[in-house]
Amino acid sequence: MAAQNHIPPRSVWLETYGCQMNIADSQLVTAVLRRAGYAAAARPEDADVILLNTCAIREHAEERIIGRLGDLARLKQARPGMRLGLLGCMAQHNRAALIEKAPWLDLIAGPDSYRRLPEMLGAERFDPAIDVRLNRGETYGDLAPEYEAGVRAYVTAMRGCDKFCAFCVVPYVRGRERSVAPDDILREVRGLAAAGVREIVLLGQTVNAYRAGETGFAALLRNVAGVAGIERIRFTSPHPSDMTPELIETMASEPKVQPYLHLPVQSGSDRVLAAMERGYTAGEYLALVARLRAAIPELALSTDIIVGFHGEQDDDFRATVELMRTVGYDSAFTFKYSVREHTRAFRLGDSVGEEEKGRRLSEIIALQESISRERNRALIGREFPVLVEGPARRGGGILAGKTPQFKTAVFPGHPEIAPGATVRVRVESATAHSLSCALA
Ligand code: SF4
Repeated sequence: MAAQNHIPPRSVWLETYGCQMNIADSQLVTAVLRRAGYAAAARPEDADVILLNTCAIREHAEERIIGRLGDLARLKQARPGMRLGLLGCMAQHNRAALIEKAPWLDLIAGPDSYRRLPEMLGAERFDPAIDVRLNRGETYGDLAPEYEAGVRAYVTAMRGCDKFCAFCVVPYVRGRERSVAPDDILREVRGLAAAGVREIVLLGQTVNAYRAGETGFAALLRNVAGVAGIERIRFTSPHPSDMTPELIETMASEPKVQPYLHLPVQSGSDRVLAAMERGYTAGEYLALVARLRAAIPELALSTDIIVGFHGEQDDDFRATVELMRTVGYDSAFTFKYSVREHTRAFRLGDSVGEEEKGRRLSEIIALQESISRERNRALIGREFPVLVEGPARRGGGILAGKTPQFKTAVFPGHPEIAPGATVRVRVESATAHSLSCALA
């Protein structure tokens, strides 16, 4: 049929799975589709196009998405004109298996193909439309993502990763490192400041590997700090190997850069760290933590830990427990190892049984709960400036916001306190997850 008779679908429902990078990518996709004339649907049932922006980091994440595709297949059966697409890391990682498991998919687009979405959605025929080419030059730096209103915005500073940790699919599904030009980042940050955003979180898979021409990550932080209206700056996730002295010095001396760092360690065992190809030993990591704490005494630290990596013996696991105790993280994201196809560790195997992985995971979750509780309780009586975000989940006129250390603080509301304001609070009681405060 002639293409001019084709009327493209116009309303889109977008679901996002996985990490903050994916949330940022969905804001980009929303902007691309809005420009092409698409509006957001109120419910998936009403949408002409449904897109899932997916995560491939763990097997569990993929299973969840396959389940969701099953639900959506029923919706598609009821409305045959509706188009269903898969975006993001899983699209890139597993397209062949996906076509087999979900033959009703109309579109599969990897993280470097979002500019082409309107064209792909406007195509006359799908069988399905697939674009998973990785593009070393794509930063989307010229596109302004559509941010959700709020006091904090996550701004992508770099895409991809060159580290190739043995367990990780990211370099394969998101491609090699590339940094967004500083001018594009600053333009975006200025726009966000004008729209009322007070806190910027710079994003990247290894964000502190940022380099655009002469501008390294420390210089980028200083440039962002120069934007009027922005009061707080954070970044995630840095790689320990790229925590340069210059970056530590900038964190220590630039008041807008907040004293909080998510510093993934993954394991406390040198043997496992070497097998993971992380590029540091436990001793080097601990020395880095000591340098950071010497430079930034109020620093809060969080981390990622994987238990049950192939070959992890009980004494390796004990070394992880020991490292957690030594560092005393404020919080930790903990995971059971799951083998991912295409990674370097895939061919090694998966020697730790599910039950043992579960036991190890429960142990470190309980340990971290007690460390977090202890660290938060030690803050009782201290005062902090809190950037107000809005009503707390518990309701009752209680407000919530974050301390400089990225701890959730809740405190009684007041008619004169609006989101975006910074108030001083005093910690009255604490759990492992939040601080209950009074206005100081
Ligand atoms: S640094 Fe390692 S864990 Fe992080 S995204 Fe890159 S390969 Fe994956």
